[in-house]
Amino acid sequence: QFNFSAGPAVLPEEVLLEAKNELPVYDHVGASVMEISHRSAAYDKIEESAREHMKKLLGLSDDWHVLFLQGGASMQFYQVPLNFLPEDGSADYVITGRWGTKAIKEARRVGDVRVAASSEDDDFSHVPPVEEWDLNPDASYVHITTNETVNGNQFQKDPNLDVPVVTDASSELLSRPMDLDGYGMIYAGAQKNVGPAGVTIVLIHDDFLQQRKQPLPTMLDYGTHAAKRFNTPPVFPIYMVEKVLRWLDDLGGVDAIHAINQRKSQKLYNAIDGSDFYRGTVDEDSRSMMNVTFRLVEEDLEPVFIKKAKENGLLSLGGHRTVGGMRASLYNALPEEAVDTLVAFMKEFERTHG
Ligand code: PLP
Repeated sequence: QFNFSAGPAVLPEEVLLEAKNELPVYDHVGASVMEISHRSAAYDKIEESAREHMKKLLGLSDDWHVLFLQGGASMQFYQVPLNFLPEDGSADYVITGRWGTKAIKEARRVGDVRVAASSEDDDFSHVPPVEEWDLNPDASYVHITTNETVNGNQFQKDPNLDVPVVTDASSELLSRPMDLDGYGMIYAGAQKNVGPAGVTIVLIHDDFLQQRKQPLPTMLDYGTHAAKRFNTPPVFPIYMVEKVLRWLDDLGGVDAIHAINQRKSQKLYNAIDGSDFYRGTVDEDSRSMMNVTFRLVEEDLEPVFIKKAKENGLLSLGGHRTVGGMRASLYNALPEEAVDTLVAFMKEFERTHG
């Protein structure tokens, strides 16, 4: 069986097996990792390794803080403006899908925000080119969603602007190398490419961190978590994240997985483009490498496609409930063989139903 779920999503089998084997007793400490103090040396080692691997994999300098928070990416929608949107200031948002729409809604609760660009009128079928954005040079930050999980579009280039960029990279973090220069902050729920649900990855550049407002509620101040381990972190998800990061490092890192991910998505897009039976929902220059969204030209057949796919061991191919159609999420841990199997299934389905 192959799992195309958009998240929580497939984890590397090696990681699951390693965790299974050492779960009852972690590293000779006499208990599982869920049962030991988050102040213990054994736990210190796990979190430090996760942090160091994250830095190595993404090429983050020591000016970057790697935080493991809770509340999901959804909490970041509010925490970002809470920290960085001053009462007399403004922030710019680029809206390319469902998640960006949710992000700006939360920011509006905090202060003044502008839509610098949006593809809503085109059903989020593309990412507006940066030259067309209506940017405010005095904005505190520009918020983007580099991969829109539901709508299946993705930035093809990391923007580098005059103000710091904050991105929701939930569904693409660690799937490709990132050009970090323009970013003040990158955040992601872990449950797609990085680990199980329950921990949120926040990467924040120190220059940007220092621009935050004060005072802030302690737990919602990024500075609290950058300074020290303030409270009990989600130890089990972080333990799993550490394993996923080591797995990715052993595989050759982000460049290696990027090449595989490009190949996987290209195979699927080729199958969609090479047929009159299927059609993609996103313009070619904005397509996501992670979440491939497509339709049957004969939309009535879509429930049959999804059901038959499931019977053939191809799981979770239904599109998000708000948009329908199909979505194949091709995260890092999904083997290339899964895409080959899906493409073969699509050809057979077309032959028998076309
Ligand atoms: N942002 C993006 C791009 C997502 O794909 C998701 C979840 O699918 C979220 C935010 C929400 O994440 P969470 O459920 O961790 O709050």
